Amino acid sequence: MAHALSSSRPEAVVERIDGRAMARALSTETAARVEALCARTGHCPALAVILVGDDPASQVYVGRKVAECRKAGIRSVEHRLPADTGQDVLLDLIDRLNLDGAVDGILIQLPLPPQIDAGLVLDRIDPTKDVDGFHPVNVGRLSTGTGGLVPCTPLGVMKLLDSVVADYRGLDVVVIGKSNIVGKPVAMLLLEREATVTVTHIETRGLSDIARKADIIVAAAGVPHLVRGYWVKPGAIVVDVGITRVAEPDGSTRLVGDCATEELGHAGAVTPVPGGVGPMTIACLLSNTVTAAERARHE
Ligand code: NAD
Repeated sequence: MAHALSSSRPEAVVERIDGRAMARALSTETAARVEALCARTGHCPALAVILVGDDPASQVYVGRKVAECRKAGIRSVEHRLPADTGQDVLLDLIDRLNLDGAVDGILIQLPLPPQIDAGLVLDRIDPTKDVDGFHPVNVGRLSTGTGGLVPCTPLGVMKLLDSVVADYRGLDVVVIGKSNIVGKPVAMLLLEREATVTVTHIETRGLSDIARKADIIVAAAGVPHLVRGYWVKPGAIVVDVGITRVAEPDGSTRLVGDCATEELGHAGAVTPVPGGVGPMTIACLLSNTVTAAERARHE
């Protein structure tokens, strides 16, 4: 059902891109790859997940990733370390996992406690096992379009976009946010598809005017309701990466994205929050783990 984006799409029928359904489909595909790899090589993919400390949000994220791995048939090996773990201890663990042929992917849940230099630790991971795609070798490969492991959220963004965009050549894309984990890699992936990409950030002047010219907006600022209806041209596609937990008057909380979704009835397609990019991020982590396992066996 992918179609080339055009401004002549039927008006007022905003398509909600269902990230949950797409994530389920991707995970089913990944589970089939796991089964095939196990059958062909006798090796079943494994992901090592490292959590340092007891940050409640990180515990939830790790629990979710481990549960999804299990569903897809990927073995997950959890390493839960106390909050006062020294940097050398963590580096030693990574060295051991790098050398362990049974482990295909290594994931370090961020943030790390202040005594640990996150950059140093992430750089220690063998790039072929770097399923988060944060290692400088993978960043370099992404920017030169030469393979490597692609960060999960940007990969998920592209898969969501691919469901509604057949051809990116010449399309104007505005990426809001220039982080190393979302904005910059998304921009690189879109450049590879020959889109014209404008990367914007907190110091960008006249952002709403820039956004209004875009065929595609990828919002990854972490600012609730930043992207208003008048920022979006009719028929444009909006991917909302932002996730912010906001308090309700009754004391409960809910997750909101970067876009004022209720004002986007004139958009061509939008991703919801929750249920858009979030589920795809985990599904792409599983897919990356299997990709690493296949490549390690020259599949
Ligand atoms: P970050 O804080 O590292 O970067 C935010 C970027 O947005 C910066 O480049 C900043 O300059 C820009 N920015 C901030 N305020 C802005 C404004 N008012 N106008 C324009 N630009 C502005 O954040 P990040 O790690 O890239 O994450 C961004 C958002 O995406 C967060 O809400 C985060 O929770 C969410 N996120 C979601 C997933 C997912 O799986 N769905 C994954 C990663 C991040």
